Amino acid sequence: MLRHHGIGGIGIIRMSGKNSFEILDKIFRPKNAESIDKIKGYSIKYGNIIDGDKIIDEVLVSYFKEPKSYTTENMCEINSHGGNIIMKKILELCLKNGADLAEPGEFTKRAFLNGRIDLAQAESVIDIINAKTDREANVGIKQLEGYLSEEIKKIKELILNIMTNIEVSIDYPEYDIEEVQETENLDVLEKVKDKLKKLEESFDNGKIIKNGIKTAIIGRPNAGKSSLLNAILKEDRAIVTEYEGTTRDTIEEDVSINGIPLKIIDTAGIRETENEVEKLGIAKSREISKEADLVIAIFDISKPLKKEDFDILEMIKDKKNIIVLNKVDLNQDVLTDNDNEFKKYSNNIIKISALKKTGIENLYNKITEIFNLNQINVDSEIVITNIRHKNLISKAIESVLKSEESIKDKMPIDVVAIFLKDILENLGNITGDVVTEDIINDIFSKFCLGK
Ligand code: GDP
Repeated sequence: MLRHHGIGGIGIIRMSGKNSFEILDKIFRPKNAESIDKIKGYSIKYGNIIDGDKIIDEVLVSYFKEPKSYTTENMCEINSHGGNIIMKKILELCLKNGADLAEPGEFTKRAFLNGRIDLAQAESVIDIINAKTDREANVGIKQLEGYLSEEIKKIKELILNIMTNIEVSIDYPEYDIEEVQETENLDVLEKVKDKLKKLEESFDNGKIIKNGIKTAIIGRPNAGKSSLLNAILKEDRAIVTEYEGTTRDTIEEDVSINGIPLKIIDTAGIRETENEVEKLGIAKSREISKEADLVIAIFDISKPLKKEDFDILEMIKDKKNIIVLNKVDLNQDVLTDNDNEFKKYSNNIIKISALKKTGIENLYNKITEIFNLNQINVDSEIVITNIRHKNLISKAIESVLKSEESIKDKMPIDVVAIFLKDILENLGNITGDVVTEDIINDIFSKFCLGK
């Protein structure tokens, strides 16, 4: 298995598997030749990659001997010069000499299948690679270190204890220990539920850490939506990337505000044209606010409210929202932030001038206040960022509830055992001990090549 990796000053071609040293031997001529048995793991050798007698590149090769490698297999990494030509050539040489091309994520998949890391840890690798903020990377690193896996293991042990208890009473029905046990088991289940709920709740923050806060800026034509977006995007701290949004004709722009990742739904592609009726704009606003975590509704402070404005207010009232009264620089305030109309719909009302870029800081402070990410301490708390994990935890909680009910209802012990097994199975799916091949393939196919 091998892969070349990225383009830069230096390129890395990784090989993993039983034959990697054999293949390497055919294409690498070290300056100081030594037999592979003599070469220690974690050492580096200098030399040339050769094709027959022809020198292809001057390289450094790192050796990792099983089981002390990323995949636990024999591995080597050829550090060549970067750039497509050389790397492609070395890759081809490896292939010609018996290596196979790696699938995306195959190195990490092997690390998992060979038991060096569990599935949750393997999944964190992709999160670390894709991290867009420090916080996201930190959460990923903690998961790779095994914090989540440890917690899941602890919970599983609690459930296993109950199962052992139950088995005792199946095996020795003559002992009348059920009453005591029932309370004991229910206590443990309560503890399990608390732990799982805590993990489940952490996803509220985890989702934000991973995906950012989906933010929609809505308002009537000419209220100042584009001007506000530009004001936000023009700041140094803002622009990260752009990619296609889920709503047709929109793109999403990643920005980081006071360390809070926002994914602003940019409707530039669906901007109202002169001859388009305002109603259409409202329909679009409705569509994008539906999918947003935060809606910023912007109004022109110099114009009285129209019916469409009330439509917008209705739209935002059940969402996390901020009302922005724009164009304060005109000094023609028809609307005021004390306006009871606004207060009916939002507690967060601020005044700005998108054109003069004043008051934008207040908007940022409001966002920070609403999504108090500063309160999440990613160093001391386990944060779930992966929707697959969150769904499995929710399912486990359901099974905990069913187990509790079945005990309270004095159901036969084998029925209780079924629900307890469900808990274990859902949790086992997170760490990968009972996971199906389809799920594994699905997870690793999302990895980038070379990892
Ligand atoms: P959109 O249709 O909601 O995207 O509104 P735009 O951002 O395109 O703004 C419409 C018009 O209002 C433009 O001519 C802007 O220059 C102007 N405008 C936007 N914000 C302000 C502001 O804060 N003050 C003033 N005076 N004009 C503004």
